[in-house]
Amino acid sequence: MTTTQVRATCPHDCPDTCALLITVEDGVATEVKGDPDHPTTAGVLCTKVSRYTERTYHPERLLYPMRRIGNKGEGKFERITWDQAIAEIATRLTAIAARAPQAILPYSYAGTMGQVQGDSMSSRFFHHLGASLLDRTICATAGFTGYKYTIGATIGTDIEQFQDARLILIWGGNPIASNLHFWMRAQEAKRNGARLIAIDPYRSLTAEKCHQHIALLPGTDAALALGMMHVLIKENLIDEDYIAQYTLGYAELKARAAEWTPERVADTCGISVDEVVGLAREYGQAARRGEPVAIRTNYGVQRVRGGGMAVRTIACLPALVGAWRHPAGGIQLSSSGSFPTNKAGLQRPDLLKTEVRTINMSTIGDDLLKDSSPAFGPKIEAVIVYNSNPLAVAPDSDKVMRGFAREDLFTVVLEHFQTDSADYADILLPATTQLEHVDAHSAYGHLYMMANNAAIAPLGEAKPNTEIFRLLAARMGFTDPCFRESDDELAAQAFNNKDTRAIHFDWESLKRTGWQKLNMPAAPFAQGGFPTPSGKCEFYSASMLADGLDPVPNHIPPYESVASNPVLAARYPLAMISPPARNFLNSSFVNVTSLRSTEGEPRLDIHPDDCATRGIADGDMVRIFNDRGSFVAKARVTTKARAGLVVGLSVWWKKLASDGKNANEVTSQALTDMGRAPTFYDTLVQVEKSGQTPVFLLGV
Ligand code: SF4
Repeated sequence: MTTTQVRATCPHDCPDTCALLITVEDGVATEVKGDPDHPTTAGVLCTKVSRYTERTYHPERLLYPMRRIGNKGEGKFERITWDQAIAEIATRLTAIAARAPQAILPYSYAGTMGQVQGDSMSSRFFHHLGASLLDRTICATAGFTGYKYTIGATIGTDIEQFQDARLILIWGGNPIASNLHFWMRAQEAKRNGARLIAIDPYRSLTAEKCHQHIALLPGTDAALALGMMHVLIKENLIDEDYIAQYTLGYAELKARAAEWTPERVADTCGISVDEVVGLAREYGQAARRGEPVAIRTNYGVQRVRGGGMAVRTIACLPALVGAWRHPAGGIQLSSSGSFPTNKAGLQRPDLLKTEVRTINMSTIGDDLLKDSSPAFGPKIEAVIVYNSNPLAVAPDSDKVMRGFAREDLFTVVLEHFQTDSADYADILLPATTQLEHVDAHSAYGHLYMMANNAAIAPLGEAKPNTEIFRLLAARMGFTDPCFRESDDELAAQAFNNKDTRAIHFDWESLKRTGWQKLNMPAAPFAQGGFPTPSGKCEFYSASMLADGLDPVPNHIPPYESVASNPVLAARYPLAMISPPARNFLNSSFVNVTSLRSTEGEPRLDIHPDDCATRGIADGDMVRIFNDRGSFVAKARVTTKARAGLVVGLSVWWKKLASDGKNANEVTSQALTDMGRAPTFYDTLVQVEKSGQTPVFLLGV
């Protein structure tokens, strides 16, 4: 028996981007474990990816190209050859491109996050074709936009410093489920005597383990940050020297914060005055003592109407108290802006010869149902889906389903499994998993460039995304040499962006070592140097004003809440959020039986008071509904959800739920204040007993 160990990288949509060691015995991957030498992975993987061999060798892996033989959505296919599949796709796309290339739409996100298999050859292909561009907004663009207005780039506190913080605010995230290696650092800080405070409408696993949990109403985070500022300024818990040297617009911020008294904030957020004042004092007094105070904010904050402004407002706090002076102080939203990724080289936007429209992936439900018009452009006639599962993850799901059910829509899906979206494919293509292809990765939770070597040969006839687009380009007569570059040639360009900070990057050496840290200062903004137009942390942003936004931090009420929309709330009085279930990663891993069995079934956490008025008992099947749609789940009566809030842990595959639906039946396509992102947590619903028998397809 030949046994080897291969260096790889977790490709999933998670900030931790773990370094993996794959044990391969006679060509079969037998174990996936975390690299003990990688400083942030530290030999630990989450429960999901530690089962990666179960996922890779899953009996339902797609192994051959297939053509639809049933109705759309029925999921009936027949096996075809690669030659037939490529020929049919090329014929269909060529015909559409001859008339209206923008009628072709790529649809992809971060199911596989690598620089190579994510978007390199695929982007080149669509750019050359003149297809519509896709605005990839579904996760992070609201927060990124708000953070960039304030800090200048998505650069923040290094995860490797958090264990030295004395106070950590975990704001809008559940790292035990979705940022495990940050949580390990936070635990270390706790053992060293740090205080951990969770700010989250839901008492998540993480919130339960923090010293304090502030359960504010969804969509009110900016108000809480403004209330903190009010107290910090009033009680002179600010760093005047840091403010004077390294910030812009303090006077305007002070005036705005003055409007947000603790009483007003408490009323807006649904918390007590003591919680507002106490939080501000803990934060400001620790900073005043010279202790590192750090914020880990995450994407929960930004999935509401004012999500971009909320992140921006929170991002002002470290500069106000001078927290950036310390390596373990400051804030982290994402580390992605630290990487000198070479998107232009990989994706080749120069291949696009004419101006084309951009379709927002968060409004795919509406856009697939639109006819041609001068405002919209040509009706969408073809969608090529890769690294994504829009039928499960996109908001306002009934419209998404109706769009993909259009008989006149040509749909190609590249996938590992027959997902909800795959059921609507005309041609379904088997893609390789991370163990079967090469990739180069940046991260959004640490500062290491990462390599992924192929550990095993592709299963069945699966091919990497890159190879599929290479084949299509060749069949469609694209002659530019860039369409013949190998995956290694693509990976070698991943971080050689000459326009940004120079680092030594050598792909062959990265493949051997597996990872290499960027050359970043330990405290990136200790002496200012913010990559904003002014070079300062911008409390006042002229760029925002130019973009038609309030230039000073503010609270923007949700579209749907009891306070902001009482008419709607009279019919749908409960706020709903749908954060990630611990054993799923968005809609990945839902079909891995051991993980799904641990999750059990779609559940709705609901407060005892809200159950009492509805006659709902623990374990009852309930129907969650609003004007957009409905889904059923099993009620879990718990105070983890505050009164007035229900929580549906997600994202379930619809076909694995008893009613064929999931939480996105009730979420909306309304967009955030900035970044054109979805507002998944800005949703009012009503809940009633459904009377349905709780039968779930756990064996599927
Ligand atoms: S999903 Fe996240 S925590 Fe799990 S192995 Fe991948 S990067 Fe690590």
